[in-house]
Amino acid sequence: MTKGNTAPGTDDALVVLKNVNKHFGALHVLQDIDLTIRRGEVVVVIGPSGSGKSTLCRAINRLEAIDSGEIAIDGRPLPAEGRELAALRADVGMVFQSFNLFAHKTVLQNVTLGQIKVRKKDKKEAEDRARALLERVGVTTQADKYPAQLSGGQQRVAIARALAMEPKVMLFDEPTSALDPEMINEVLEVMQQLARDGMTMVVVTHEMGFARSAANRVVFMSDGRIVEETTPDEFFTNPRSDRAKDFLSKIL
Ligand code: ADP
Ligand code: MG
Repeated sequence: MTKGNTAPGTDDALVVLKNVNKHFGALHVLQDIDLTIRRGEVVVVIGPSGSGKSTLCRAINRLEAIDSGEIAIDGRPLPAEGRELAALRADVGMVFQSFNLFAHKTVLQNVTLGQIKVRKKDKKEAEDRARALLERVGVTTQADKYPAQLSGGQQRVAIARALAMEPKVMLFDEPTSALDPEMINEVLEVMQQLARDGMTMVVVTHEMGFARSAANRVVFMSDGRIVEETTPDEFFTNPRSDRAKDFLSKIL
């Protein structure tokens, strides 16, 4: 199976974390994290609750500041604030577990707003792109509804909204965890298609089927550390650490 459309090489690093540390008070939530995500790569992050997966995603988007170490996106260090930070955030699309659509805007407005404000597109161009993206995620008929009126599909709109910014990398933090069972596959299918289209993706998920079929690499975290980093085949058939074995025995 082809996973992504770029063969990951050594010089095409898109997201680089070097020796990243982060504390919440006494809790050492990210410990010496070294991680490189290459263009076109799909990296699935797995681990028990509380192991630091969300904090890792939030650090990459600088929703959380780190205490030490370095994070760079496409060769540029993460800016601390201001316009540069806004530009960086536009390069890093994020989809959270909880729906984070603007409740008082229509679906179409949700997908055009950032394009107009941050990417400086005109309204027509933004709307054309939004409609194409809504079609891509399968919610074409709902463009004029408000998020609360959508029967499911909110997470797919959230994905369309993130894609509208033309991100270099997409971060997904348990995007299907809050969904009704019948909605889960629809979202996973959109993500599978994105992966096939070559999008660089970091995906925190407990959906092991997705990890097996879409991931180039699995990163297993426990207690703020990356404990294993390997191919999905290797991880699921031959986990090396006791912590990974224990985790897999509970979820598989
Ligand atoms: P995961 O996503 O793997 O479940 P998180 O990154 O959400 O883990 O959390 C890792 C640890 O950090 C947990 O113990 C959590 O309670 C703690 N934590 C997360 N966010 C904060 C915060 N803003 N302040 C204090 N502790 C936090
Ligand atoms: Mg989390």
